[in-house]
Amino acid sequence: MKNIKFLFVILFMFALFFSSTKAFAFELELYYDKVEELLQGNANSSLEDVINSISLGPDEVIVRSKVDHNMAYKIKEVKITSEEQLIKEMGEDSYKDLTNSQKALVCAYRASMQPSVEERKSHAYRDCKVNLYDTSDFEGNDDLDPTGLKQRIMDTDFWPGSFEKSGNVRMGSAHFRNETNAEEGKSIFIHEYSHTLDKGSFIDGMYGTDKVHYLDEITTERAAFKEGWAEYNEMLESKDKVKEYEKIARKNQVLKVESDTMAGFYLSKDNIKAKDTSAEQLLSNECFMATLLYRIHEKTGYNSKGEDKISAAFYATNNEDNNMSNVIKQFLKDNPEDAKVVYEVIDKTLLGKMTDKEFLDFVGESEGSLEYVENRKKGFLAKLKDKFFKKSDSKKDKETANNSVSESIEDTTATIPVENEDVEVSVDKIQLNGDSSNPFDD
Ligand SMILES: [Zn+2]
Repeated sequence: MKNIKFLFVILFMFALFFSSTKAFAFELELYYDKVEELLQGNANSSLEDVINSISLGPDEVIVRSKVDHNMAYKIKEVKITSEEQLIKEMGEDSYKDLTNSQKALVCAYRASMQPSVEERKSHAYRDCKVNLYDTSDFEGNDDLDPTGLKQRIMDTDFWPGSFEKSGNVRMGSAHFRNETNAEEGKSIFIHEYSHTLDKGSFIDGMYGTDKVHYLDEITTERAAFKEGWAEYNEMLESKDKVKEYEKIARKNQVLKVESDTMAGFYLSKDNIKAKDTSAEQLLSNECFMATLLYRIHEKTGYNSKGEDKISAAFYATNNEDNNMSNVIKQFLKDNPEDAKVVYEVIDKTLLGKMTDKEFLDFVGESEGSLEYVENRKKGFLAKLKDKFFKKSDSKKDKETANNSVSESIEDTTATIPVENEDVEVSVDKIQLNGDSSNPFDD
């Protein structure tokens, strides 16, 4: 009898051990959400009446539009465990038969299964549910939507984003309807999932009054740090993204500034070339921040992967007030042998804009940083300027070269909108079938 009691104690301890280890393995689950019907109130029946007249299957839910309060969606939701299942749920037998926007959602699913995402998952601090909303039945459907208004509403309702409050991610096919490169679905998934790993809080107004941010916009240091982290993760997964973002993080790039008198407007008088900004302004551009991390990864990857070193520094400092300077200081503490290379990458990426004091504040004071700063003007910055003079063929560029030391590239005035991040979104919902495991419960 005593032995049996002992056995029970041992079994209980085992159960406790396994349940507690399970609690630390955070989930990444993907759900396919097929938008089956658009519901709207009309002259004869209110939206409530329309909703109440509908009978829902066990996997179906009603989700209200955030944009149009007279519109709702009937959605069927299924948990996805294989690519084959996802394609079948989309109503096709093979990937090639899908619409472009559906292909992008499949690419997002594929990305979630990659080993590199599995590795990222080990840094998760909470579960993450990803909803793949498929509105393809309504995309470009002139009969249903002759004015295109419903499409614009769906664009906003299912715009890709990550939710700070719940830690969940939303992906919508509407965003990809004109996208011929389905890999964009992968990049956006990586971007949004990376946000869920970042504990840095979203601050009111960090994207400006319009709450929208662009790759080539000067926003705030917090926004640029958070978006830069997500975009750097995209770069790690895509050579195309490296090319795209490297092209923006150059001295002749025109950066946008939101008008301080007209919210959501970007007037040409407010635009500024990267080479004419302050260091603080470059630290407030997400693309420059993404490129800074990526270049450090590239330049310090000789003995162990630079990517691993950056991850270690990022997750060691991960907290709600984190910033780029903290990550860099941690990186230098962990990898003192890389200090000089990192200093040079910072100077090159920030176009030599930092004053000595700003530089020391950013990287932290140490024997090495003081020595670097001591020689900075006649050392690395001078070398960069030489390189610049050789490459530049414009007289005007030569005149301004004292303030700008990066390579010369052609101007690009590209305007690249990125997802607008909802700070604390809770998608309105009603539950007609009493399903308490509703995924829209943020
Ligand atoms: Zn983002």
